[in-house]
Amino acid sequence: MFVYYINVTIDLKFQQMRISFMHLLMLALIGLSMSACAQKSDSKNHIKTSMTTMDTLEIKKTDEEWRKQLSPIQFNILREKGTERPFTGKYDKFYEEGTYYCAACGAELFTSKTKYNSGCGWPAFYEPSVNKNIVEKKDISLGMVRIEVMCAKCGGHLGHVFNDGPQPTGLRYCINSGSLRFEEGKKKNSE
Ligand SMILES: [Zn+2]
Repeated sequence: MFVYYINVTIDLKFQQMRISFMHLLMLALIGLSMSACAQKSDSKNHIKTSMTTMDTLEIKKTDEEWRKQLSPIQFNILREKGTERPFTGKYDKFYEEGTYYCAACGAELFTSKTKYNSGCGWPAFYEPSVNKNIVEKKDISLGMVRIEVMCAKCGGHLGHVFNDGPQPTGLRYCINSGSLRFEEGKKKNSE
């Protein structure tokens, strides 16, 4: 009787383990499909890649100086090429009319006119507002080939650009909220 009881308990334990294993597997699959969103096709040619060196940057500061000026999250994204967790950034589901500037140096990068909901969890734009303020560079980190987007003035990391955006460009600039500063209303120096 006692042995039978033990057997049943062990069986139950195995059942529970199997269930929690399935649970983990499901979670892992969900995680994978979410990150796939950020890693879709990027191998077509119409994304322009340009090279920039630290020497050509207009604004150069030491890590220490940047650390004083930026919040820890901003520093992690802009200076250490970090990525904010999806669906957590303040500009992800944010559609006010205005202009987005580099949070580090203030260079104009995007406007609300080209912002759209990509569903990926980060702010998405189909076009920069000032092309010369954006630098795109091949990024082979994390075992993927992606195109990194940086601020051309200070070299700050902004995010990545992919080829699955809407027309007219077909591009998706997937940008961290933490690298942006939003200003409401029309551009001051508007055309
Ligand atoms: Zn900048």
